[in-house]
Amino acid sequence: MSNAPVNRQTFDEVMVPNYAPAAFIPVSGQGSRLKDQDGKEYIDFACGIAVTSLGHSHPELTAVLHEQVDRLWHLSNTFTNEPALRLARRLTETTFAERVFFCNSGAEANEAALKLARRYAATQNADKTQIVSCKQAFHGRTLFTVSVGGQPKYTEGFGPLPGNLAHIPFNDIAAAEATIHWGTCAVIVEPVQGEGGVMPANKAYLQKLRELCDKHGALLIFDEVQIGVGRSGSLFSYMEYGVTPDILTSAKALGNGMPIGAMLTTSKIAASFVVGTHGSTYGGNPLVCAVADKVIELVSKPETLAGVKQRHDWLVDGLKAINAKYHIFEDIRGQGLLIGAELVPALHGKSKDFVNAAARHGLVALVAGVNVVRLAPSLIISQADLVEGLQRFEAAVAELTQQVKTAQPA
Ligand SMILES: *Cc1c(COP(=O)(O)O)cnc(C)c1O
Repeated sequence: MSNAPVNRQTFDEVMVPNYAPAAFIPVSGQGSRLKDQDGKEYIDFACGIAVTSLGHSHPELTAVLHEQVDRLWHLSNTFTNEPALRLARRLTETTFAERVFFCNSGAEANEAALKLARRYAATQNADKTQIVSCKQAFHGRTLFTVSVGGQPKYTEGFGPLPGNLAHIPFNDIAAAEATIHWGTCAVIVEPVQGEGGVMPANKAYLQKLRELCDKHGALLIFDEVQIGVGRSGSLFSYMEYGVTPDILTSAKALGNGMPIGAMLTTSKIAASFVVGTHGSTYGGNPLVCAVADKVIELVSKPETLAGVKQRHDWLVDGLKAINAKYHIFEDIRGQGLLIGAELVPALHGKSKDFVNAAARHGLVALVAGVNVVRLAPSLIISQADLVEGLQRFEAAVAELTQQVKTAQPA
């Protein structure tokens, strides 16, 4: 029984029903190609959710993992380990940060950032506890991060929630000015909102948040869990904007699929996390850190980052060409290789239909809400795979728009 084959139906029989996975189950991957249980091949424009940014089975990452698997898997935090130290040093050498904390996910990185901000402020003023975040923001699924996130549907039924949180409209300078004050300990923002529809922040907005945080002694936290690690076209998106945060959180692509999160900050702020104040059993384990160190080494190469900008142009030009024929998008936006294509009002609510049609034509894509198709291919996808992926997407669009036409005769 326990060794019988598993399929999509098994999911409904044995898993908690919090996900609605696709009907097919991918079983192997190579570069930007995935294969499912039936041997059908897909081009991957999703990378998990912007996670496997160097593709599947990257030979250098696989080699590093194998090497570490044979050497050492785990140490408790009563020891440090070499891969974690190498990775932390590389992150401090390549970013504004001077200190790093490792954990296992994006939510945990944000949890650490928010706790650190509260703790840092508490040493100055016990009433400086307000956390300001943006509507439509997504910061993770722990109770704290889901409360700070700006989507009420994710907190419904989970109360009572942590207190003194304020949610302001994204990219709204006046709202930020009206809300951030002496009692604010931190402002957290995604430089490009991912789950909220792939919405890039305006540069002037981030500059204003920096200014307001400096004025009121609040910490500016950039949640780069989705846009970070090369996807923006710079190693981190804050470098694209030229606005430096006090704390930066990373996860997703950091381990190319190995579960790792990181919180980066300055030594002055980090000092508030004295021995015993925060921790994680698995955080910073040798296996994931060895892989992440190689990820940062590969992604931070100038040719990798220049390649992201080149591929951005190919992808956006391809989407525009499709749109010129089918008129399905009212906006194509994003940064680097995180692209959101917002459907025209007549197609609102149908982003999932496009993703399902794409899968039928052998392309894995994502939604970002019900109105936006989200594309996040590998940073090193070949031009041939990118072009073929766009062709498959066009075939899906052709099929769907045909259905829409026949369903609603003019
Ligand atoms: C995915 C995501 C998170 C949560 O990361 P997990 O690893 O799922 O906990 C947090 N912030 C942003 C911007 C994300 O995209």
